[in-house]
Amino acid sequence: MPTKFSRRTFLKAAGAATAGITAATTVPKKFLSWAEEAGQKDMKQIPTFCELCFWNCGLIAKVENSKVVKIDGNPLSLRGRGRLCGRGNAALGALYDPDRLKFPLINTGKRGEPVWKRATWDEAFTLIAQKMNTIKEKYGVGALAMIYHGTGAAFWKHLLHAYGVTTFAAPSFAQCRGPRDIGFVLTYGADVGSPEYYDFSKSKYIVLLGSHLGENAHNSQVQDIVKGFSSGAKLTVVDPRLSNIASKADRWLPIKPATDMALLLAWIRIIIEEGLYDKEYVEKYSTGFDELRAAVQQYTPEWAEAETSISSEVILDVAREMGKCAPNVCVGAGRYATWYGDDTQRSRAIAILNALLGSWGREGGYFFPTGAKVPEYPGLPAYPHHEESTPKLDAAYPFALLQTTTSIKQATITDKPHPIKGWFVYGSNLMKTMPDKQETIKAIQNLDLLVAIDTMPVDFINYADIVLPECTYMERFDEFAVGKFKGMSEVSLRQPTVEPLFESKPSWWMTKELGNKLGLSAFFPWKDGEEYLAKRCEAGGMDFAELKRDGVIVKKGGNPYITAENQPEFATPSGKIELYSKQLAEKGFDPVPQYTKHPTPPAGYFRLLFGRAPLHTFSRTTNNFMLTDLQKENYLWVNAKKGKELGLKNGEYVMLVSQDGVTANGRIKVKLTQRLRDDAVYMNHGFGVHSIGMKRANGQGIADDDLITKHAIDPIMGGTAMRGNFVKIVKGA
Ligand code: SF4
Repeated sequence: MPTKFSRRTFLKAAGAATAGITAATTVPKKFLSWAEEAGQKDMKQIPTFCELCFWNCGLIAKVENSKVVKIDGNPLSLRGRGRLCGRGNAALGALYDPDRLKFPLINTGKRGEPVWKRATWDEAFTLIAQKMNTIKEKYGVGALAMIYHGTGAAFWKHLLHAYGVTTFAAPSFAQCRGPRDIGFVLTYGADVGSPEYYDFSKSKYIVLLGSHLGENAHNSQVQDIVKGFSSGAKLTVVDPRLSNIASKADRWLPIKPATDMALLLAWIRIIIEEGLYDKEYVEKYSTGFDELRAAVQQYTPEWAEAETSISSEVILDVAREMGKCAPNVCVGAGRYATWYGDDTQRSRAIAILNALLGSWGREGGYFFPTGAKVPEYPGLPAYPHHEESTPKLDAAYPFALLQTTTSIKQATITDKPHPIKGWFVYGSNLMKTMPDKQETIKAIQNLDLLVAIDTMPVDFINYADIVLPECTYMERFDEFAVGKFKGMSEVSLRQPTVEPLFESKPSWWMTKELGNKLGLSAFFPWKDGEEYLAKRCEAGGMDFAELKRDGVIVKKGGNPYITAENQPEFATPSGKIELYSKQLAEKGFDPVPQYTKHPTPPAGYFRLLFGRAPLHTFSRTTNNFMLTDLQKENYLWVNAKKGKELGLKNGEYVMLVSQDGVTANGRIKVKLTQRLRDDAVYMNHGFGVHSIGMKRANGQGIADDDLITKHAIDPIMGGTAMRGNFVKIVKGA
């Protein structure tokens, strides 16, 4: 008799898993929808974790005759809690994609117009080692850099650190969440984490600005916000577009693009002037209140109405609602935050608003996470140190706490402050993540070595000299995923569910082999990826066999909220929440955020907005056959009234031209909608793939990145803001 899974069963299992400090339990077979078949077939259940986005939810693969036939969520995973999102469910589409990179490749043609020669692994590694050594001899090791995204990057960072490389950058910093992290670090001395430390399930009031939560799956976070709604939480969403999450909101504020700062400053002023702030909290934990108050005096609700197009009554109402629900309020920090160039300051304004409401460290606001760490592999030699001899790349951006792709690109073009001649690019489709493609191509043409490590022939691959095909996340041991949550932490294991297909290999293997060629064997003493992980588990007192069996080990403990016994510490210079930032003032920036007017679209143009499709993770999935069946191209959202004025019809194909006269390749279908303001158009990012190797994705829709021909740089941390581009619609495509 099959056992039906119920919520009660799951809670019981999850409760058992988190009852003690290191207690865990096996995945209950009855959770798995197909468990009743277990005794009847040659079937294995192998837990691992998803890489179709950075959330890294735990999954369990059903493997029959060495083939994955189905996946389910792992109920023990804190990131997914037994559930997978629509795209996460498409693991088989990633694993069995016929267009995958299959063999090492050497480009015998030009960068951008490749002529591929199939190579052996030994040939590829010999060539890379030779070129690395030549660059090191000629320019110094500072001329090598790595740009990365994804779990397996850890092995490449280890190899390159061992070689002496000091320049590592992730587009997820300068092109995405860097400004919000720095804005919060400057205010609280801490960032908001990833997954973010939002206490949505306990919130009474939530405000999201430009967040695409739900379209951006954020599995457990979506579950938390739904839980918050069921307990009565109210939601206000500020967005020029009625996003999926806005459609669930109590209030949608369709703000004029580029004016969010005006709204935030007006809210700060109202909360101060109407005495809605948490006086005891502000007095005890913050500094700079009087300076903040003085600096926001001009930002009245009426002034903000003129800037934002949101009525002053609504601005006042929302501020009062927040004040009434404080401190159980969460004003979300957002994720993709590089919008207009003053993004660190906008994030500071969000951080300050939360501080006034007393939400940092309070139920329903931002919780204090429970930390977790897996020790490094024991007994490794120390990395060589070359930082002192290499001028700092990001000196122009004083709060670039991580290195930026912006500076790597500039140094590669100008040779200043020192030449960069070799790039290792791991899992990053730079043609789509970095603004200004022509500038990126100019930088690439100045390189002596470009190595790309990926699973798919994405657009960027065509610019590489050597391509190393990594096996997918379903076929490899990988770095641990360590997550900090409310009252719990988690260590997740990625392990192979099947053998790697074709000649693809895991990064632990590639780096060990290349390390041997470079004379760095001492840095790679492990026999294989499994031993590497097992030894680290052992060093951390974790049971590796248990981790292999369950996929995750959860630890319980830690107080998420401020109490008399649990007082917060702020790693800022003052040791307090800095409403006024002396650090910023000393470097010549506004110590309290101020409003900057940004350009608006000229006549006949629309602001180009872009974002995630619910069923795709950008170009990582636009070739995935399980997802292309559901959405194969992107659409151009156009305000229905405006579209009719222009004579546009639903479903009609059009072309797009940027303000700089650049026409995007291909054509895009119009979607007339009332869910968008009339001064902007919107499309999903990741489509309009140019690479002919991506057979299903090639030429489907338009690439917004073709149209991002200008960007602003955040002077505080070097982020590249891409929302200042305007496009014209051209009929007759
Ligand atoms: Fe995978 Fe979806 Fe989880 Fe992202 S949210 S890791 S795509 S299941």
